[in-house]
Amino acid sequence: MELEGKVALVTGASRGMGRAIALKLGHMGARVAVNYVAVDPQNEKDAQEVVGTLAAAGAEAFAVEADVRDGEAVKRMVDQVVEKWGGLNILVNNAGITKDTLLLRMSEQQWDDVLDINLKGTFLCSKHALKAIMRAGYGRIVSLASIAGVVGNPGQTNYSASKGGIIAFTKSLAREVGSRGITVNAVAPGYIRTQMTDVLPEEIRNKFVEMIALRRAGEPDEVAEVVAFLASPRASYVTGQVIGIDGGM
Ligand code: NAP
Repeated sequence: MELEGKVALVTGASRGMGRAIALKLGHMGARVAVNYVAVDPQNEKDAQEVVGTLAAAGAEAFAVEADVRDGEAVKRMVDQVVEKWGGLNILVNNAGITKDTLLLRMSEQQWDDVLDINLKGTFLCSKHALKAIMRAGYGRIVSLASIAGVVGNPGQTNYSASKGGIIAFTKSLAREVGSRGITVNAVAPGYIRTQMTDVLPEEIRNKFVEMIALRRAGEPDEVAEVVAFLASPRASYVTGQVIGIDGGM
């Protein structure tokens, strides 16, 4: 229960890694705001399921709607969390999408959608959460980058640029807020089994596995473990870092 008394906000927490991270932080004693976006009625149901699972485990949680691309909505989301629980300590920038295609075929829309949600979303959530985090006395920001943002990946110039941007953003923000004791880190997962990767053709998924030392895809819980460590007091002297979680890819 090392996060007892701490308040966490996890974006895109209705499924996949965001869900696993929200559950993990809740199990460690944090009160967890479970962000979802209302593009589909199923998303709210999924977010409420996460809240219910946390409540059943004895953790406090609530679902909060916001499209991370929308600055006003993000500000309202942070205000709701602060009003409910009196502050905010931990932000996990997890919401992200892919729109894969080769650069010559990539539309401006595909570029903008990925950069807006992945990179601008990380900027907006961090900016609006930071004031509350600075007031709280204990602060952690952890963002989901990707191995694609470190080494690149064909068919993902938009996604790789957004994740590389998150890495540079993380290093710069860590330097801005370090003097206040706030740590800012990123994780760079490799191939993790979620809906994002389930849609890839089997031959591509098999190719990924061949490139991984551990010869298997990762599970969302294995990413949640590392994010939870970075969010915890145990990671007090880790900041501006990018931690690979890729099974040796
Ligand atoms: P996922 O299963 O597709 O989940 C993505 C989550 O982001 C969903 O909850 C989604 O909500 C949410 N989201 C999308 N657009 C949003 C918006 N505008 N505002 C708020 N939430 C939004 O993906 P995942 O695999 O868990 O990925 C989580 C993060 O890890 C992403 O940043 C991804 O880029 C990164 N990552 C994944 C892998 C991998 O192998 N899976 C590897 C490296 C990095 P909806 O339900 O509305 O879509």
